Amino acid sequence: MRQKFIIGNWKMHTNADEAGRLAKAIAVGVGTEDRVCVAVCPPFPYLALVASNLKGSSVALGAQNLYPEKEGAFTGEVSPTMLLDLGCKFVILGHSERRQKLGESNGFINQKVHVALDAGLNVILCVGETLEQREANQTTEVLEQQIILGLAALSADSLPRLSIAYEPIWAIGNTGHHATPEQAEMEHIVIRKRLAQMFGKPAQSVVIQYGGSVKPENAAALLSQPNVDGALIGGASLKAEQFLAIVQVAIKQTQTDVKAK
Ligand code: PEP
Repeated sequence: MRQKFIIGNWKMHTNADEAGRLAKAIAVGVGTEDRVCVAVCPPFPYLALVASNLKGSSVALGAQNLYPEKEGAFTGEVSPTMLLDLGCKFVILGHSERRQKLGESNGFINQKVHVALDAGLNVILCVGETLEQREANQTTEVLEQQIILGLAALSADSLPRLSIAYEPIWAIGNTGHHATPEQAEMEHIVIRKRLAQMFGKPAQSVVIQYGGSVKPENAAALLSQPNVDGALIGGASLKAEQFLAIVQVAIKQTQTDVKAK
């Protein structure tokens, strides 16, 4: 059984005071709960502060990006070694905002995936289609390309430290849309099939999260789908009570899954 994985992406939100308080509230709410994996990804400047406020809880620290070099003359960039130094366990790569607003290509994202995994980080690779691509029936092709190119030359040995976040771009943020549980399940199956073609049986163990306007109200329906193994949460991860409510939904779903086994 794949462990449910709930991760908060705080994007470029919070100040030091808010980040510290949010981390503390999430740490207290999650405590030492370990039936689901929970992580938060604050902005770079608050990683150390958040790390110290998460101490004693089972909430893991993640980063929203990295530069694919260990060190060097890369002004303004952050290396995987620095992230590990600050206590990060996870890194989000290929988020659609970086693909679209910062022009990140599948090739560049692939470099980051390799460097992050080689350094010892766990990677969450984001994939997803635009509304135009969905309407042009290109969703499968887009997702497959992002998976094939983003994970090029990866060995199956790395899969235990990889998860995929399916994030339809049209459903992220305040667009008023989110994928139905059935739509999410369908695309997660596309992703899993592609992973199986690339890596064989170990693909069955890869966690595939859904991201795009996940809220306490829709989390149960999404997380009850057989191939929706967690959620990557933006907006709702900035409110401790909402984020914690989604964590509770994931715990409940885990209990249901265990009973059904
Ligand atoms: C995201 O940041 O990737 C995201 C899914 O945001 P939201 O939950 O706000 O749609």
